[in-house]
Parts: sequence; C-alpha cells; structure tokens
Amino acid sequence: MIIEAKNVDFWYGNFHALRGISMNIEKNTVTAFIGPSGCGKSTFLRLMNRMNDLIDHTRLTGEILIKGENIYSRGVEVDLLRSEVGMVFQKPNPFPKTIFENVAYGLKVNGERSKSVIRDKVENALKQAALWGEVSDKLNQSAMALSGGQQQRLCIARALAVSPDIILMDEPASALDPISTAKIEELIFELKSNYTIVIVTHNMQQAARVSDKTAFFYLGELIEYDNTKTMFLNP
Ligand code: ADP
Ligand code: ADP
Repeated sequence: MIIEAKNVDFWYGNFHALRGISMNIEKNTVTAFIGPSGCGKSTFLRLMNRMNDLIDHTRLTGEILIKGENIYSRGVEVDLLRSEVGMVFQKPNPFPKTIFENVAYGLKVNGERSKSVIRDKVENALKQAALWGEVSDKLNQSAMALSGGQQQRLCIARALAVSPDIILMDEPASALDPISTAKIEELIFELKSNYTIVIVTHNMQQAARVSDKTAFFYLGELIEYDNTKTMFLNP
C-alpha cells in the first residue's frame, strides 16, 4: 500500500471534521472521494500532504502513512513530502510567470542547477500532462495567456516535474468546460500507469469514469469504500 490511513480523526478548533477514517490505497490506482459538500473530502485530501499545517488550531489523531512512513511523525520534511505528494487545486493557479518558469519552479526550489536537466524535465512533464504540443513554441510566454484547461494541465505538469509518487486533485475539472474536463479525465487515466492519484469530485459520473476505487464521505465519516465497479453497479 502506498497510502495507509489508520483511524484518522481531525478537528478544526472544536469542530470534529473527520471521524475514524481508515483507507488503504494501492500504487498506480485512482481513488475518487465523493459525497455532499462539506462532508470532509478536501480536508482528508489535504491531510495527505500536510496542507492542513497551514491552518491554526487543528488536531489530528490516528496515523497517515505514505510508503510506510508516518507523515506526521517528528523529523518529516514537509517540503520534501509535498514534492512526493503533489497537489492540483480546483481553480488553475499558475504563477504569473512564463510557462517554462511555472514547470521549472519546483526543480529550482529543490536545488536543481543544471539547465539541461531542467529543460529535459520541463519538456517531459509537459508531455506527460498532454500540453507539450500546444506550448512547445511559446515556453517563454506568460502562463496567464493560456486557456483555463491549458492552465490546469500546466499545474499538473508543475506537480509532475518534481517526480512525485502521488498526485492529489481537488475537483480538478469542476471549473472547466466539458472539452477541457474530458481532457483532464483522459489524462488521469494515462497518468495512472506512473502515479497514484486521489481525486475529489462532486461528480458521480466522473468518479465512475476515472476511478478504480471510490470513497463515499458523509458528515465526516467514510460510509462506503469499495471498487468503483462494485459500488456503481450495486447502488
Ligand atoms: P468537502 O471537501 O467535502 O466539501 P471540506 O473538507 O472542505 O468538505 O470541509 C469539511 C467541513 O470542515 C465543513 O463543514 C467545512 O466548513 C469545515 N472546514 C473546512 N475547512 C475549514 C477551516 N479551515 N476551518 C474551519 N472549518 C473548516
Ligand atoms: P472546497 O472547494 O475545498 O470545499 P471551500 O469553499 O469549502 O473549499 O473552502 C475554501 C477555503 O476556506 C479552504 O481553505 C477551507 O479550509 C476554508 N474553509 C472552509 N470552511 C471554513 C470554515 N467553516 N471556517 C474557516 N475556513 C473554512
């Protein structure tokens, strides 16, 4: 198992947002988190790369292990964790920089100095994100000039550039038009051979199309967790 959650409870101040969540996620699979708004999907997703560390007055009990290591134990390097466990948000959020700089960003933060290595990795990430063909001749143009769907694939390339094992996606297509959404879904399917993907979606059909396993959250609890095929064929 690449991700294991063991009896996780989580509080925002006095608000008990997650209760007794356990989950085992296998490598090279897509897991979809579904359930009504406010039931804890994003909260649980953000726990997996410690994005919740940015919020004050929170409390976590239980364990989350990634590749067998408890990510909340002392001595874990959060920056390193966040390159191993990349994240893509609902609204595409490229930096107001060039396309190249966006994808190269994490490599430079991680200390990569070689220009040729950076160039190769940027190209490779853009290819994996199915964006290379559309941007290879304008890498030095601003990312802000791209369409919403292209910006989202750029954000995926930015996450991929630092060679993560896991990509967390929080409603990655819900701000996009249907054609861009279809491209993101197709991409998720292709990325599965090299990455483990966890996706929050409010769209049941999307969960059914892209995921191997589905986790149904309700009021902070995981009330159903099964193979997507089983879950959607036996409602
Ligand atoms: P979902 O992703 O299923 O829509 P969230 O995980 O975003 O749900 O939120 C779960 C619950 O936690 C909601 O009631 C939400 O209002 C609350 N919540 C989320 N973030 C915070 C926060 N930073 N501080 C306090 N409460 C929060
Ligand atoms: P999502 O699309 O993840 O459900 P929301 O619109 O619920 O996002 O929340 C957006 C931001 O506001 C998140 O960073 C979340 O942590 C924060 N937030 C959500 N609910 C609350 C709350 N009740 N109190 C404080 N912050 C909250």
